[in-house]
Amino acid sequence: MLRRTKIVATLGPASSDPKVLEQMIRAGVDLVRMNFSHGSAQDHMARAEKVRAAAAAVGRTVGILADLQGPKIRVRKFENDKIVLNKGDTFILDAALDGLGNQERVGLDYKDLPKDVSKGSVLLLNDGMLEFDVAEVRGSEVVCTVVRGGVLSNNKGINRKGGGLTAPALTDKDKEDIKTAALIKADFLAVSFPRTGDDMRYARELMHEAGGKSLLVAKIERAEAIPVLGDIIDASDAIMVARGDLSVEVGDAAVPGLQKRMIKMARAKNRLVITATQMMESMITNPIPTRAEVSDVANAVLDGTDAVMLSAETAVGDYPVETIEAMARICLKAEKETEENGVDRRMDHIKFTRIDQSIAMSALYAASHFKVKAIVALTQSGSTALWMSRINAGVPIFAMTPLASTLSKVTLFSGVHPIAFKIESKSHAVTLHQAEDELVRLGLVEEGDLIVMTVGEAVGRAGHTNTLKIVRVGDHRK
Ligand code: PGA
Ligand code: MN
Repeated sequence: MLRRTKIVATLGPASSDPKVLEQMIRAGVDLVRMNFSHGSAQDHMARAEKVRAAAAAVGRTVGILADLQGPKIRVRKFENDKIVLNKGDTFILDAALDGLGNQERVGLDYKDLPKDVSKGSVLLLNDGMLEFDVAEVRGSEVVCTVVRGGVLSNNKGINRKGGGLTAPALTDKDKEDIKTAALIKADFLAVSFPRTGDDMRYARELMHEAGGKSLLVAKIERAEAIPVLGDIIDASDAIMVARGDLSVEVGDAAVPGLQKRMIKMARAKNRLVITATQMMESMITNPIPTRAEVSDVANAVLDGTDAVMLSAETAVGDYPVETIEAMARICLKAEKETEENGVDRRMDHIKFTRIDQSIAMSALYAASHFKVKAIVALTQSGSTALWMSRINAGVPIFAMTPLASTLSKVTLFSGVHPIAFKIESKSHAVTLHQAEDELVRLGLVEEGDLIVMTVGEAVGRAGHTNTLKIVRVGDHRK
């Protein structure tokens, strides 16, 4: 059975062995995420080659998502690697401290923290495990009272509750890393902590300057991003519901509602959406997920996410392959539920602005009202497939294209399956017959099945899809 929802797996030490990587791809990974917080440009290049080799060995297309570190605000290191803080303790975050930290104070990577906070600000450390109240700011020192204590160890992140840290989204390191992402031809580039659409437009400019064509993913993980979500989505190709940092900034209880809102908005704006962080967290050390994790993954599918993402589970976990198998199983079952719930009727209310868009929507309409087996889009840029994938018509969409770059981008589109297809004829009638035969050869459709096909009369030109054809498989040979 074909799974609609895509699985993104973060790579790390647990997924570096080529054999494990191949098993992960077989188990259902559609895209890998390379976390640019770790490793050098050389490491990323070697890793991208490894992924492409493993995908080729398995015979599947796997997309690559390069994820920039962004301005993660962290404490520096401690003399003894960590300290324990108790409720009521006074502790100083000191932007001027160059040496190692101790029980009284620790240094900061982000030198502007004292300017961005004031008495009464709430700081959350280590993903919200520890909570500090700012008692006063004295020059370079942020003097805090510990409200919730715990272990604070080297390089742990700091978030401000409610947002408001002014650090720009793209650091100097990120700007260098964009060049690496362009070099390895990453299909997607994720920008961490964007504040506005302009942050995304700037990242796109840098990507173009570097000669890259990666699609841009805005990680929604700052409180400031929420009121300007529409602008950020407009400036991006995809968004990530980055629940880790977002939860710390807006409060955990706000995140499930925001997830639903973000997924709906992204789809309505013809953009892609990834739901991320702690989806199968317990599988870092356990061979099966918790009931709550199963529900979380299934609910993201029911919300309409394009993809679900794994972080530490596949980067450093003990069960990377089992985690992917479990995730795939949960997605498939949840998708069955959405099919039984019937089809989204959004197209009754929207106006189409382009010929190829109208064809894509007509194909969906036909597919959802006339029992067809599949939608087949012969596409160059993948834009027809993107429109089709914004609405769940309950049938698979096969994106057939000769372009490797399009094949590996549609790996993120829900319900769309990439099929490599050489266009050998100038006649679009012949091309359609060949496409149909190829799907039969691959076992994806059978003689007698009804399918809806879209193509441009000028076969092989991007943005020119203007033809919709409904055919019974095999009839052209009779
Ligand atoms: P990260 O982003 O894993 O790079 O922090 C995702 C998140 O914050 O949820
Ligand atoms: Mn994050």
